[in-house]
Amino acid sequence: MLTPIKDKVTIVTGGSKGIGKGIAKVFAKKGAKVMIAARGEDSAKKAVDEILADGGIADYFLCDVSDWEAVQALIATTVEKFGSVDILCANAGIFPQIKLSDMEPSDWDEVMSANLKSTFLTVKACMPIFEKQNKGRVIVTSSITGPITGYPGWSHYGASKAGQLGFIRTAAMELAGFNTTINAVMPGNIATEGLDDLGEEYLASMAASIPLKKLGAVEDIANAALFFASDEAAYITGQQIVVDGGQILPESMDAIAEM
Ligand code: NAP
Repeated sequence: MLTPIKDKVTIVTGGSKGIGKGIAKVFAKKGAKVMIAARGEDSAKKAVDEILADGGIADYFLCDVSDWEAVQALIATTVEKFGSVDILCANAGIFPQIKLSDMEPSDWDEVMSANLKSTFLTVKACMPIFEKQNKGRVIVTSSITGPITGYPGWSHYGASKAGQLGFIRTAAMELAGFNTTINAVMPGNIATEGLDDLGEEYLASMAASIPLKKLGAVEDIANAALFFASDEAAYITGQQIVVDGGQILPESMDAIAEM
């Protein structure tokens, strides 16, 4: 049983959909006051409405997390609304699939900005608050794609996700001076609304390649984030945890067939 995170002010970037929405809902269910950051209003409002209907506390702020001024406004608005920032879940991300031969420099920049620069900006904007209260928690949503595995069309994405892990190692040292930790969750294939379009057959083949024979749920990632946010994880920083149903383990397709 983890020490409750009740009343902890939690920013979840990309909290309007998919994994971020799962994190926002699980944290709200545990009593956190959740600020969702995203660009699109419809899905952000829907996510907040679902949390409120479930008895939770939440609001949303529309911003592009790759924009420094917008990120500063996100943090200022969160403090104005909820009084502080205790936990930052740097989760927003995009994953357009483009092979290197077709990739334009602008495609590269867009993914790096949304996934990696946003991690730096949100952490930087929260730092004065964490320093003042001498406590803070950052949980970054990285991926197995990039740090461990590869997939055609995702070289820029993989680089951004591996970059997040490089970032947290030094950030952990700089944040440690004010009792603030930063860790990353590395999801495998997680079932989100975004995957629905891929069709049942494709999803079944994805599941078949995973030792636990199913895609992960958004709650699986949220629960790992919850652990990093808990008092019990206070002495863990600069680390990462893979949450993938064993997806990275088979060394070949034969290994899966042998199971
Ligand atoms: P998703 O369903 O597409 O949701 C992405 C979220 O990020 C949305 O709320 C989106 O809202 C927001 N977002 C994207 N760009 C933004 C920007 N520039 N500024 C503000 N908000 C932005 O994606 P997901 O599958 O949940 O992925 C979430 C994170 O998990 C990503 O970092 C991804 O790399 C990682 N991940 C996912 C999987 C998986 O299987 N799903 C596996 C490994 C890692 P708006 O579009 O309205 O802004």
